[in-house]
Amino acid sequence: MTQELTLSTITQNIEKQIKKGDVDGRQYTLLAASKTQSVEKIQHAINAGITTFGENKVQEAETKWPALKSQNPGVRLHLIGPLQSNKADQALDIFDVIQTLDRPKLAETLAKAMIKKQKRPDCYIQINTGKESQKSGIMPEAADEFIIYCRDELTLPISGLMCIPPVNQPPAPHFAYLKQLADKHQLSELSMGMSNDYLEALRMGATCIRLGRALFGARKE
Ligand SMILES: *Cc1c(COP(=O)(O)O)cnc(C)c1O
Repeated sequence: MTQELTLSTITQNIEKQIKKGDVDGRQYTLLAASKTQSVEKIQHAINAGITTFGENKVQEAETKWPALKSQNPGVRLHLIGPLQSNKADQALDIFDVIQTLDRPKLAETLAKAMIKKQKRPDCYIQINTGKESQKSGIMPEAADEFIIYCRDELTLPISGLMCIPPVNQPPAPHFAYLKQLADKHQLSELSMGMSNDYLEALRMGATCIRLGRALFGARKE
């Protein structure tokens, strides 16, 4: 059960930070990023105590999660990869949280799908903090307007923000920006921090850290 060992190491690292006073007593969610991982590996992680998972693709989630969810009723699944508008209905069927709302067309489609499906999972808005052309997320200069549009005009259940900082830059300025933007709009959830920088993200206000390699080992992608 190497996963249990890894999980306890991670939890201990976080506990140490909390004791040092670097992280306030806030509740945080440890999300296991389970893309490419098998149902068996995911079940091991659930047995080790992980209750929140993230998948990047609707289709992959549909092949793995109906069975996992029916066997593990308390487990929650977040969408952490880009969502195509034509998959909005399916996304509402399988995900408990959608972290990657990032453009007006998708927001409009989701708003309609939520009415049709009578399902309103929490949504986070993904911000492209590094303004990277290959990455999804709304650009920072359009973020204020988009947050207000989603929440006030479309009345979507927006509860937080999410970002994936550029790989070749220190993440701290990106985390600080996301925190500031969330505070400005009174959004309580901040999904930031991955295997390499989760402690820093927690220090800077993360409420959800997304861990892949730290939990499951290197992916063969
Ligand atoms: C894969 C992935 C992660 C986990 O990344 P690691 O570096 O393996 O911890 C986190 N967030 C998103 C959006 C991902 O796609």
